Amino acid sequence: MKFGTKAIHSGVEPDPSTGAIMTPIFQTSTYVQEDAGVHKGYQYSRTQNPTRDALQKNIAALENASYGACFGSGLAAIDCVMKMLTPGDEVISTNDLYGGSYRLFKTIFEKYGIKFHFVEMNDMDKVRELINQRTKLIWAETPTNPMINIIDIRGLVKLADSCDAWLCVDNTFATPYLQNPIDLGADIVMHSVTKYLGGHSDVIMGALVTSNELIAKEMYRIQNSSGAVPGPMDCFLVLRGIKTLHLRMQRHCENGAKIAHFLQAHSAVEKVYWPGFEAHSNHLIAKQQMRDYGGMLSFTLEGNKLQDAQAVFRHLKLFSLAESLGGVESLIGHPATMTHSSIPKKDREASGIVDSLIRLSVGVEDAEDLIYDLRQALEIL
Ligand SMILES: *Cc1c(COP(=O)(O)O)cnc(C)c1O
Repeated sequence: MKFGTKAIHSGVEPDPSTGAIMTPIFQTSTYVQEDAGVHKGYQYSRTQNPTRDALQKNIAALENASYGACFGSGLAAIDCVMKMLTPGDEVISTNDLYGGSYRLFKTIFEKYGIKFHFVEMNDMDKVRELINQRTKLIWAETPTNPMINIIDIRGLVKLADSCDAWLCVDNTFATPYLQNPIDLGADIVMHSVTKYLGGHSDVIMGALVTSNELIAKEMYRIQNSSGAVPGPMDCFLVLRGIKTLHLRMQRHCENGAKIAHFLQAHSAVEKVYWPGFEAHSNHLIAKQQMRDYGGMLSFTLEGNKLQDAQAVFRHLKLFSLAESLGGVESLIGHPATMTHSSIPKKDREASGIVDSLIRLSVGVEDAEDLIYDLRQALEIL
């Protein structure tokens, strides 16, 4: 089955009791049993809920995986992966990863005896050097935030196999429409469903998928034991959002390309980070492992002045200044003062997060209007 058909049909069936075409919101905590221990497969909603089940199956199908589990947030999904490890285990992670993931690793799981290494994954040798017999997990994010680096998933699969570690890919930025890490050999895929999968900036949720039965058993055991499950109303909203994932992604990609080219040609813009450009340092890997280049891009301003970036934000009318990404509406962010402000200025700048770096989550509005908005804001410089 092709992607758009799966997005609409996988995991969902008309409700057998009424014929309702939409999966009902099963807003219930418990289920009546016919006799002690005799039930219809549902006993308590932390463990199983029909609305959540439909969504879990749907997301697993989109990633070509056998098992899926949803969580109360993207971070709760990552928390579940880390709870599969035991003290003494080591994790090798992308260095420019989502700030919340870094905080979870450093301030929660390091305390329980798990050791984290952060490394630039553009260079596979740097990853190889960190591998030892305690390496249990490689954690990768690609494209990365906010520098839009692309990491070679197949290269990481080889390294993970060489040391019997698992590879987990945070696929939030790419979405299953653009990239399927399980097909490339990854063991687990994680999503902040909050972003493109939900797609409408109205839900916080996370998901994990895998085709490994052993990992799946652990995943469901921890989901039920720790209890960070999403409610049925949120599952319903995401099921609805995913039905248009392929349509939204097409437009995100089209608009992203148009805006990248517009910015590239603008005299006030210094550099545009978008993997579709042949000059992008990871363009070839992007071309191999992604179907298109997505709606996330970053750029810097000539002169690299903080005041100039701030002036641009103040003059934009359609792009809203906000954290998060992946919704239908276009957002603009300033990593140096927003998402990455806790990183010391020197370290930040070493990885490219300079004062004038601006990140765009290009929405699905009409590209002409978005470009008009950017042009009038850049004109004041
Ligand atoms: C937002 C985000 C997360 C965290 O997800 P929440 O749903 O906010 O908990 C993790 N990884 C990436 C890449 C994200 O963008």
